[in-house]
Amino acid sequence: TGPLVDVRDVSVVFRKKRTLAAARQVRAVNDVTFHIAEGETFGLVGESGSGKSTTGRALLKLVPTESGSIKVAGHDVTNLRGGSLRRARRSMQMVFQDPYSSLDPSSTVAASIAEPLVVHERLSAKEARSRVNDLIEMVGLRASYAERYPYEFSGGQRQRLAIARAIALNPRFIVCDEAVSALDVSTQNQVINLLERLRAEFRLTYLFIAHDLAIVRHISHRVGVMYLGRIVETGPAERVYTAPAHPYTQALLSAIPDPRRRSGRIVLEGDLPDPARPPVGCPFQTRCGFVMDICKQRVPEHTAVEGGGEVACHLQTTGPTLAGSPLNDLV
Ligand code: SF4
Ligand code: MG
Repeated sequence: TGPLVDVRDVSVVFRKKRTLAAARQVRAVNDVTFHIAEGETFGLVGESGSGKSTTGRALLKLVPTESGSIKVAGHDVTNLRGGSLRRARRSMQMVFQDPYSSLDPSSTVAASIAEPLVVHERLSAKEARSRVNDLIEMVGLRASYAERYPYEFSGGQRQRLAIARAIALNPRFIVCDEAVSALDVSTQNQVINLLERLRAEFRLTYLFIAHDLAIVRHISHRVGVMYLGRIVETGPAERVYTAPAHPYTQALLSAIPDPRRRSGRIVLEGDLPDPARPPVGCPFQTRCGFVMDICKQRVPEHTAVEGGGEVACHLQTTGPTLAGSPLNDLV
């Protein structure tokens, strides 16, 4: 059997009509390929605007894809419609940064968590309520909290309740989109421990999206790094963190304080380019300290990295050329 999540050459294009004459087209996800094994956590990192959330939403068919194929738990997501889409969605859930996306502020948490059970499993009110109590205890809270409203809880507790709602229908795959990013560090660790426990207990598979590499490190088996709609590096978390191959990954990591690291901080010059007008060739060329002529002509292909995974960088295939590489200064 193949991976639980299999994403191949997926692109998502947004067209915003500004005026009748000029439509602005943004390739938010550009030719993205990755897979996640059952029971695995795949961390997806990158700056805001890199396309990570859109990738997560595409997997759950919350945004339409332009091209490519997505398979989740045996379903060809891109072709699902109507009733079969609704059934498939039960096995795929999402936990957002803002718990109010899944917990209705004007309803008790019992009502919010019971909703999918009533809609999809047609449980009676009494059956749903007993299941809600179990779910709330499963995420480490007291069943008696069910009658309270979301505002009565701390951020960490609200995120636990959002997780309870996400696991209510026994999903196989959960997209966590910045699910712990708004929490303080110790609460982050508690929620990550909860996600880990649930993953082991129910053999869940996660796509764990975050802009912060430090958060992703401990929960992920493998990670992918996105930049301007493309995945520029993938690999086992340990390899990516100890031997990042892509200059962008190196820059992201250098921003995390680590007394054991000898190299200094690599400061990224400039901003993310306008996604509507990405550079031709390597997407990172406008901010890369190693940029070569070929980087401005061709998109680098993904090539295998020692220690596992792949990187999309011409340094790996062509090596530095004589013109225009700062590496020459060292020779
Ligand atoms: Fe830098 Fe070129 Fe590699 Fe892109 S392909 S990351 S510009 S060296
Ligand atoms: Mg986002």
